[in-house]
This record gives sequence, C-alpha cells and structure tokens, in this order.
Amino acid sequence: MLTPFGIAIRKLRLDKGMRLLDLANRLGLSSAFLSAIETGKKAIPDAFVLNVARAMNLSAPEIKELRRAADRTRKEVPVAKLAEEQRELVAAFARKIDDLPSKMMEDLKKVILKSKSDDVPFHRKRRGIHVPPMSTEVIRTFAEKVRSTFVDDSQIEFPIMDVLEFRMGSLLEGFYVDVQDKESMGIEEGRVIAGENVIILREDVYTGAWGDNGRDRFTACHEFAHFLMHRTVTMARMRDDSEKIYCDAEWQADTFAGPLLMSTRHLPNFKGPDDAAMACKMSVPAAQVMWSKYEAEGRLNHK
Ligand SMILES: [Zn+2]
Repeated sequence: MLTPFGIAIRKLRLDKGMRLLDLANRLGLSSAFLSAIETGKKAIPDAFVLNVARAMNLSAPEIKELRRAADRTRKEVPVAKLAEEQRELVAAFARKIDDLPSKMMEDLKKVILKSKSDDVPFHRKRRGIHVPPMSTEVIRTFAEKVRSTFVDDSQIEFPIMDVLEFRMGSLLEGFYVDVQDKESMGIEEGRVIAGENVIILREDVYTGAWGDNGRDRFTACHEFAHFLMHRTVTMARMRDDSEKIYCDAEWQADTFAGPLLMSTRHLPNFKGPDDAAMACKMSVPAAQVMWSKYEAEGRLNHK
C-alpha cells in the first residue's frame, strides 16, 4: 500500500516524468529504499521533504503539499509500530495454525505469484499454481491487444518499464511498481499478490529492465502477465501432473510475455532470431524460443 506521502511523491514524480530510479539517484538512495518510503515500509527520514524538494526542483505550493502528506503519513502510519503489530499478529496466527483444518488453511493462503532467478523462461523447473485454462492462441491475441493499447503497431520494441511505471497508473487508479532489495526478495525476481494493484520487482531486475537487459525485460513482462491474468485467482494450489500445461500460471505468463516482446506482425523485419532479439530487446534464448515457435507454426513463410 502506498502511504499518503507515497501517493503525493509518486504523483509529483510521474508529472515530471521521473522514474523511481531517477529520484533515487538524485537523492543518493537506492530505488528499493525510496520505494520502501513510498510504501510505508520505512519511515520518512528527517529533512527528507526538503531533500526531495531540492532534487525535484519543487515549487512552494508543491513543497507545501508534500509536507502536508508527510505529516499525515507520520500521524496515520506509524511504521515501526505497524511492523511490530504485524509481527505479533503473525506470531499469534502461527500458534493457531496447527489447529486449523488443512482445507481452511489452503483457503487462507493468499495467492502469491513469484518468479525466481533460477527459472528459465519457457523452461521453468517449477510447476506454477493452477489457474483456469487458456490456449496459446487466446493468450497471444490478448498480448497483441495489450500491445496495441500502449504502442503503435509499427513499433517493434515493447516499452514494458515505461508501461509499468508511468502508463498503467493512469489506466488503473492506484496501480504502482514497488522495488525491493535482494535482502527482502532473496531469489525471487518479481512478485504479484492476488487482489493488490502492485507489481513488485527486485531492485536489480527493475534497474536491469530499464537498462534494456533482455532477461529482466522478460521478467517484467512475465509479472505483468500475472498481474493482468491471475491477480483475481483466489485459490492457491499447485498444478499437478495430471493437469494440462494450459492451466499453469507460469506457462501462461511466459506465453504472454513472448509475443508481447516479439509480435508476429514484425517477423518480416527480422533476418533471424539474433536479429529479432536485438530489435525486440530480448535475451537471445527467449528470442530463439519464440522464433522456433513461430517457425513451427509456419509464420516465417515470407522468407
Ligand atoms: Zn511467474
């Protein structure tokens, strides 16, 4: 959740076209630290409003607004206390857990979709959670629609980070990207939580994706897929062996991310998978997977 201060500072940032990364750099902080302040996980440091005002070149009314939001946040969201209460709640809950029937436990578990560093797109080791089935064709059509919502059909590279950080928020009130450090994410690269309007990215993935790292861009698209397709799934259970891959959230997310980064409509522009990887700013392995899929479907006939 964003705090009132988080909402205010984010609004100012977006109005000025500043990424989390840009403001963090100007303040000499990490993106994850700034994100933690915006989401109330860390208290607003002393003199922070002034530093932000300087870094963002704010006008007097903007500073006043920001200061008011900071005061409200300090009053409403006592961070340290909140964390403490949550810890107590978790501890109390943990003591009760053993008494609950397992079916109920299952229902209580919130659906959290995670991507891990050792997962290879399209060749993920882990099975994902079970979701309603969707065919490749349905997912591809959806990906193309999402693409057209944000970019012109002639544009080859999909600007996933621009979409997530600047454009989604104007389509979906309250949506935001949260950046968290390695300490809190561990081997998770990204996370989407059912029912919440947030995509969480590990700091190196966030920075990498903005820096055109193909793998990180894929991860961001994969999380975007979870957000668009699986955020409303309420029951968490893993797909079992007898169930089709079409019901696997991880498979679906990869199947969405591929054509979002490499659209079939641009295939005539590419000489081969390496060329496509460069133009689409994808990793070579991911581009090769998409290329062979399209080839198997007879979509490269123009050659
Ligand atoms: Zn995933």
